[in-house]
Amino acid sequence: MISPKFHNIYTQLPESFFSRSTPTPVKAPSVINQNEELASELGFDLKWLSSQEGIAMFSGNSLPKGADPIAQVYAGHQFGGWSPRLGDGRAHLIGQVQAKDGSNWDIQLKGSGPTPYSRSGDGRAWLGPVLREYLISEAMYQLGIPTTRALASVVTGETVYREKPLPGAILTRVAPSLIRVGTFEYFSSKRDTESISQLLKYSIAIHFPALDSKDAIGFLDAVISKQATLISKWMGVGFIHGVMNTDNTHVGGITIDYGPCAFMDDYIPSKVFSSIDVNGRYSYEEQPKVIVWNLVRLAISLLPLIDNTESEAIKKAELSLSKFDKLYQDNFRTLFLKKIGISHEINGDLGLLTDLLNSMTNFKADFTQTFIELSVLNHNSQIDHSQKFLNEWKIKWANRLEQEKDPIKVMSQTNPMFIPRNHLIEHAIQNAIIGDYKLFNDLLLASKNPFKKSLDNEALYTPPESGNLVSQTFCGT
Ligand code: AMP
Ligand code: MG
Repeated sequence: MISPKFHNIYTQLPESFFSRSTPTPVKAPSVINQNEELASELGFDLKWLSSQEGIAMFSGNSLPKGADPIAQVYAGHQFGGWSPRLGDGRAHLIGQVQAKDGSNWDIQLKGSGPTPYSRSGDGRAWLGPVLREYLISEAMYQLGIPTTRALASVVTGETVYREKPLPGAILTRVAPSLIRVGTFEYFSSKRDTESISQLLKYSIAIHFPALDSKDAIGFLDAVISKQATLISKWMGVGFIHGVMNTDNTHVGGITIDYGPCAFMDDYIPSKVFSSIDVNGRYSYEEQPKVIVWNLVRLAISLLPLIDNTESEAIKKAELSLSKFDKLYQDNFRTLFLKKIGISHEINGDLGLLTDLLNSMTNFKADFTQTFIELSVLNHNSQIDHSQKFLNEWKIKWANRLEQEKDPIKVMSQTNPMFIPRNHLIEHAIQNAIIGDYKLFNDLLLASKNPFKKSLDNEALYTPPESGNLVSQTFCGT
């Protein structure tokens, strides 16, 4: 059995970037799940993974050699309001490991006890949000959407108190870095240009190594481009993040901080799941707008490094930000046209797509199911009962597809058969609370092959009936 080799490059940054903090041991940890595929890519010995030492690490009870646990500091705009100091209030970055391909990965425990940034929080997580993040982040990965990964989940054997007593749990999360727009904002609000410059250098080395380490505008452009790709991908699967605060916006363009997130069932562009998002700031259709708001906060933080003259810096930043719209629209169009079998856009295609989306809204069609039915049905055949509203549209569409080479193949590679639907996740969590992990494990298994029906269980692949629809989610704490 070989223990993993840890190091922590974040602690080479100045002490103002983090606080040393150790996970608080838990009573009786037991493993729910370990991601053996990911563990093996990261070079973990699978025997070690399931050993007492491994379990001790995933529960924060004892850390392997070389680990150097810290809580990272950041600030952020939450629902538009400024919070000058947030930071990891219930998470510990225990260090990095080097994967087989030489890349470095942050290993972070979430729910591992209080830190100097906990404010009034208990530093813990309960089972529900841990399972939700494990499942959705892994599903996103399998869908080809950039994301933090889930390496392990454990129940702690301790009770966490929310509105009621609930089982405590810890998630081990993995990512190339955990740097947020809010990390830049933290130093910017202190006018600490030297630290911003060090953070820039660190972020570039990890996420955009082709750039010069001081190239602030190149960095801004790169983040803008990555986020334009990311958000279009979210839209393509009906994903609603739910808390797109700047502290939950990753500078590497990967999905981070799964809280009240969910995949929508009925196509309702203004859909919101999060119970606290009363004004719909982070609704499905707002996501491409709100990311620009967040990117503006990043740009503002970078201004002193973009140009010595502020007016020049603003001009350059504005030019970069103005590129988002086209990048996003191009990604969105390419992706959504593929969803209807079109690989090469010609005049009129956008109208065809818009007509479909409008009809879907009017008829509250299930987002995922509508595209699956279009993919699996021969496009010349009569539409089935549930899609009667598309009959007229289908005639135009079928004509257009005559000019496409292999539209059904394109569609089946673009439209997932499986998404972890909200009602199923809620059901899986309720079962898990009483110790039954069957549905959670089935959902995890189905998410490994999202473009196929790999499990013989139709309920995993069908939209909720009105009786079991779960249209609200609660914050991940
Ligand atoms: P979120 O938007 O869920 O990522 O969290 C926002 C902030 O609240 C972060 O700084 C978290 O670390 C902190 N936080 C959330 N839940 C807790 C908790 N149970 N204990 C301490 N801090 C928390
Ligand atoms: Mg967060």
